[in-house]
Amino acid sequence: MLLKLYQTGQPILRKPAKLVSSAALKTPRVQEVIDYMIATLRDAPGVGLAAPQVGEALQIIIIEDKAGYHEQIPAAVLKAQGRKSVALRIIVNPVMEILDTELLCFFEGCLSVEGYVAVVPRAQSVRVRGWDRHGRAVTFTASGWAARIIQHEVDHLRGKLYIDSMVPASFMTLKNFNAGWRKALPERIKKAFNP
Ligand code: ZN
Repeated sequence: MLLKLYQTGQPILRKPAKLVSSAALKTPRVQEVIDYMIATLRDAPGVGLAAPQVGEALQIIIIEDKAGYHEQIPAAVLKAQGRKSVALRIIVNPVMEILDTELLCFFEGCLSVEGYVAVVPRAQSVRVRGWDRHGRAVTFTASGWAARIIQHEVDHLRGKLYIDSMVPASFMTLKNFNAGWRKALPERIKKAFNP
């Protein structure tokens, strides 16, 4: 089943999500939410989704970056972004730690801010600890684009959207991004928006 993607302006996106108890995680209801989140992410398609985006105030994030999503992106851009395919990961109650504070500036979008993108400075590398969907402890160390996705999704669990930390002048429609910025390398982004 596909779930409704809540859009900015809907209050649930601004509220901190609740910790999921191990008992709650094992219920068919929460397992079903996870299955539907995966289906919804793939349908969009997107590379990350947090439970509040589908109307559930729970600390659950999923990420998946398929190689097929990279086909239209120039190799030089993928390299600069540190973007590689990431297999599906479900992280419950994530606790994130910044490993490398160097900030990288790239455009990103959000399934809850449909039709727009902006430049967002993000740490280059993070580690996240939490549970998988069965309540087993998991640790995920991510750098480059995967680190960006994790930071974006963990922000959702705190009621934060990328528009809170973007470079304001870089906020643009997806149409304008595709026309003028899709192939931009970091030097050009930096020169234009001086983040
Ligand atoms: Zn988002």
